[in-house]
Amino acid sequence: MTLVASYLDYNATAPVLPEARAAMAEALAMTGNPSSVHGFGRAARRAIDDARAKVAALVGVKPEAVVFTSGGTEANNLALAAHGFERVLVSAIEHDSVLRAAPEAQRIPVNADGVVNLQALDDALAAGGKALVSVMLANNEAGVIQPVAKAAAIAHRYGAALHCDAVQAAGKIEIDMGALGADMLTLSAHKLGGPSGVGALILRDGVALNPALLGGGQESWRRAGTENLAGIVGFGVAADIAARDLEKAPALAGLRDEIERRVLVVAPDAPIYGKAAPRLVNTSCIGMPGVKGETQVMAFDLAGIAVSAGAACSSGKVTPSAVLQAMGASKELAGQAIRVSLGRGNGPGDVARFAAVWKDLYDRARRLKQAA
Ligand code: PLP
Repeated sequence: MTLVASYLDYNATAPVLPEARAAMAEALAMTGNPSSVHGFGRAARRAIDDARAKVAALVGVKPEAVVFTSGGTEANNLALAAHGFERVLVSAIEHDSVLRAAPEAQRIPVNADGVVNLQALDDALAAGGKALVSVMLANNEAGVIQPVAKAAAIAHRYGAALHCDAVQAAGKIEIDMGALGADMLTLSAHKLGGPSGVGALILRDGVALNPALLGGGQESWRRAGTENLAGIVGFGVAADIAARDLEKAPALAGLRDEIERRVLVVAPDAPIYGKAAPRLVNTSCIGMPGVKGETQVMAFDLAGIAVSAGAACSSGKVTPSAVLQAMGASKELAGQAIRVSLGRGNGPGDVARFAAVWKDLYDRARRLKQAA
């Protein structure tokens, strides 16, 4: 296996925090089923209650609002199947776990900076029918932060409900579910230093789910199945640390800006998607004119740098980013972008290494083009 010297793919998954790992090891050593009434079961239940309180605190809600799931995908699927809606409206840049959970949904366009068009949302809602709207808080590819509070206010004016996929925003920007006005909110542990395979759907009082899993009464009858105790405990610890360390997140902007500055020195025409909009400080989506994203990813990988391109499906095949196309990029341009996403483990050395490889690749592509 290649030794990865620079991990710049935190939006794909973040390293599990040592504190989360240690807590999970302890939880794995516990025996009780949280539904059992004996002491072993009660200890497991307490561990889950403790994690629930921590996850709730991260987004400013009461613990009862949290429904633990197997991750962001399940939470999004659950939200989109909620009870009592005649139609679904989603922003055009949602994650596939929203888009594919509601294939019939009307897509609300975004502008060239990747920000959802609120007038288009308003117009779509005015057509009537009890609607569920889904707008993510921050996009996973370009990092663009969406005006969710405004979208929620518009939705509520029409009696609609709003679901917000906050998977990429959690741990990077402050989230107050009440201030956002979201009726449902999705989180995923592995994007903020917890393990993969666990997440949560957070519900405002009165939202009625259509449970996808039926069986026992876990999660107050909203999600059956014996709880993923170790995963939930790891999630709780990661959420707690994410809340505590939130103030450190802006420091990443310096590294991200330096990456973009160096890229633009080499190639002033390189598109940086969403640069003009409010963005997550850790994310940069950069196009290299004339070079396919997957070629770049492989070249970076050979140099020990982990970045990503487009939407990789399970076959490993990369398709030109639908998000960038929704932002107006041609299929060709959308296929030439890579995403750099930083996290707590990165420093100036990673920036220098990335910039050197980027320049090398770009120069090589230009020489090849000139020779052709
Ligand atoms: N939503 C967004 C915006 C994501 O980036 C992801 C993961 O890439 C998900 C949902 C899915 O979360 P999970 O991997 O926990 O299923």
